[in-house]
Amino acid sequence: MNDINIAAVLKRLSIKPKNLAWSTGIINGVSNEEEGIDSISPVDGKLIAAVGQVSPEDYANVVAQATKAFMQWRDTPSPQRGEIVRQFGEELRKHKQDLGTLVSYEMGKSLQEGLGEVQEMIDICDFATGLSRQLYGLTMQSERQGHRMYEQWHPLGVVGIISAFNFPVAVWSWNAAIAWVCGNVCVWKPSEKTPITAVACQAIIVGVLAKNGMPEGISCLVQGGRSLGERLAGDHQVALISATGSTRMGKSVAVAVASRLGKSILELGGNNAIIITQHADLDVALLAAVFGAVGTAGQRCTSTRRLIVHEAIYERFKEQLVNAYSQLRIGNPLDENNHVGPLIDHDAVANYMEAIARCKSEGGHFIVEGEVLGGEGYDSGCYVQPCIAEVMPEFQVVKTETFAPILYIMKYETLDKAIRIQNNVPQGLSSAIMTLNIREAEHFLSASGSDCGIANVNIGTSGAEIGGAFGGEKETGGGRESGSDAWKAYMRRQTNTINYSDKLPLAQGITFGL
Ligand code: NAD
Repeated sequence: MNDINIAAVLKRLSIKPKNLAWSTGIINGVSNEEEGIDSISPVDGKLIAAVGQVSPEDYANVVAQATKAFMQWRDTPSPQRGEIVRQFGEELRKHKQDLGTLVSYEMGKSLQEGLGEVQEMIDICDFATGLSRQLYGLTMQSERQGHRMYEQWHPLGVVGIISAFNFPVAVWSWNAAIAWVCGNVCVWKPSEKTPITAVACQAIIVGVLAKNGMPEGISCLVQGGRSLGERLAGDHQVALISATGSTRMGKSVAVAVASRLGKSILELGGNNAIIITQHADLDVALLAAVFGAVGTAGQRCTSTRRLIVHEAIYERFKEQLVNAYSQLRIGNPLDENNHVGPLIDHDAVANYMEAIARCKSEGGHFIVEGEVLGGEGYDSGCYVQPCIAEVMPEFQVVKTETFAPILYIMKYETLDKAIRIQNNVPQGLSSAIMTLNIREAEHFLSASGSDCGIANVNIGTSGAEIGGAFGGEKETGGGRESGSDAWKAYMRRQTNTINYSDKLPLAQGITFGL
């Protein structure tokens, strides 16, 4: 385990039996041990720890406590809420190494990416702290004399956060830090594949709340699988559901929340492409393509899944790509010498194998073959060879998101055709063009260019800064999280008109004489 003592890491993060049970119903500490969830590391196949699942009674109690905490939190001045979020960020700084290590061990991403994920949490806390003094509304000019009109933003109430395994802690913090400064309280249902990192986060925030004399109900954790997510989505006491995960999950959540006229933010699957033109800096393009495709073993929502390469440079670029793949080191992600870690579990490995078979049956030609790796260091059975297939853009498998390091490469002749290929998939998360030609770049960014929520020039598709609004279009769900003015989705807008005259003039010149 490369000198990393996971038992010591867990201890320093307060992962102890009491907290594992407590995570099932943070408020009352009751756990349903019979329905436990084992967290197995994909790194070495060992059990990290187990948590109980929240029972329906515990769930009801948690939401009741959250609702009660909201009464106090909504009346706490926003900059004071921001100060508490700032302290949370400080605690994360202290725990960065341990929490990043646990993220890497429980999820399987590289240690650098695990640490990067915690850094994102710290960054969003800084952002939210500043935001807590900037929840601005507009003032408008009233058409009536002696009237003042303006708008203000109020918190929504309980925000339910459903998160995916691949960003087990950062996505929660993107939502929670913003939701908290906006005056909401949060109930978090993490992925059942990564429950222990959630317990670690909860231990940290609960400590901060206690130090400030604030109720735990401001940050609640409930552990469970799909049925718990469905319970949360259908609960009319939860004003906003922010759900991150597959498009299949998002379609179910969208219906459940809409049927009770609740609000939702949906962050769903991607199928991200890089267009590499004949005017690209090929060294930059190669690095972006390889990192985007194999980073996090292809398990990022923004992973590069498709390369659309101009015919004039196609053969040269393909050769460089195959050469780069031959140098990839696959193995324990806690070892910084390795580039690629494991997939999350055996189901993910089966999906990878199935997609390869489907691609071949549609006529795909693998220039780097995929396989499941065995032998020393690969005991968990979750390590796979990143692979590359030459395909036609219209293959069904190419239009489907497979959460694994399978890269599809295809040729184009004109930029308009390349953009059509790039847009012609159901998903719309991240996209990029590699070019030093300003006309090509601007065309790609124009209204007739990329249809994705994220469109980059000379940067790959993978990864994003917290300062921008993050999210995608079409089957990616349309939600926006994190920076810019994404905070508005966590608040309700109220328009206020004040009459300080001694008359009652009606709008639109209507008269009503008595
Ligand atoms: P998943 O959909 O299997 O699970 C995500 C979460 O939803 C889990 O907590 C799960 O328990 C819950 N869930 C599942 N079905 C549900 C239902 N019917 N109702 C309510 N909750 C339900 O996804 P995953 O395998 O954990 O994550 C991978 C997927 O997440 C990929 O598709 C990836 O692209 C996507 N993702 C998207 C973003 C984004 O911001 N767009 C970010 C990260 C991951």
